[in-house]
Amino acid sequence: MTVLISADDIQQRVRALAGQIHHDHPDGVHLIAVLKGAFVFLSDLARAIPGHCSLDFMAVSSYGTSTKSSGQVQLLKDLESGLEGRDVVVVEDIVDTGLTLQYMQQILRARSPRHLRTACLLSKPSRRQVDVTVDYVGFEIEDRFVVGYGLDYAEQYRNLPYIAVLD
Ligand code: IMP
Repeated sequence: MTVLISADDIQQRVRALAGQIHHDHPDGVHLIAVLKGAFVFLSDLARAIPGHCSLDFMAVSSYGTSTKSSGQVQLLKDLESGLEGRDVVVVEDIVDTGLTLQYMQQILRARSPRHLRTACLLSKPSRRQVDVTVDYVGFEIEDRFVVGYGLDYAEQYRNLPYIAVLD
C-alpha cells in the first residue's frame, strides 16, 4: 500500500472546504452524508464549519466488494427529514463515474431544497461517464483505486487516517 494523500494534507484541505461552505452558507447548512464512505469526511468537515449545521444520512450501494462500478445504484436508507427550502450540501467520499452522485442529486432535487450543492473529498475526472456538478472538491486524483479515510476495499481500510493506493 502506498500513501497518496497524507493525514495532514487531508486535514488542511478539509478545513479549507469547510471555510468555503460556511462562506457560501452564512445562515447555516444542512449536510447530507452518503454512507458508508463519507462518514469520516463528514465528521471532520462538520466540526470545521463554524456556525449552524445540521446533519442527515443516506445509504446507497453502487459497488459491492468489486473495484468496478456496476452503474446500478440502490437506495438502502433514506433521509429522516424533508429538504424543502433548505440549503443542502451533499457530502460524498469520491466521485468516480458520477453515476451515484447523479442519482443522489436527482432524488434530492425533487424534494425542493433552496440550494443543492455537493462536496466530495476525491474526484477522478478521467473516469466520468455522466456530467455532474461538484461544487467543492478536495483533491482530483488519477484513475487509481484508493482506500482509507472512509473508503474501503471489501469493507476494510475505512479507518486509515490517510488515502492510500492498493498495490
Ligand atoms: P461512482 O458512482 O462511479 O461515481 O462511484 C461512487 C462510489 O464508488 C463511491 O461513493 C465509492 O463508494 C466507490 N468508489 C469509487 N472509486 C473508489 C475508490 O477508488 N476506492 C473506493 N471506493 C470507490
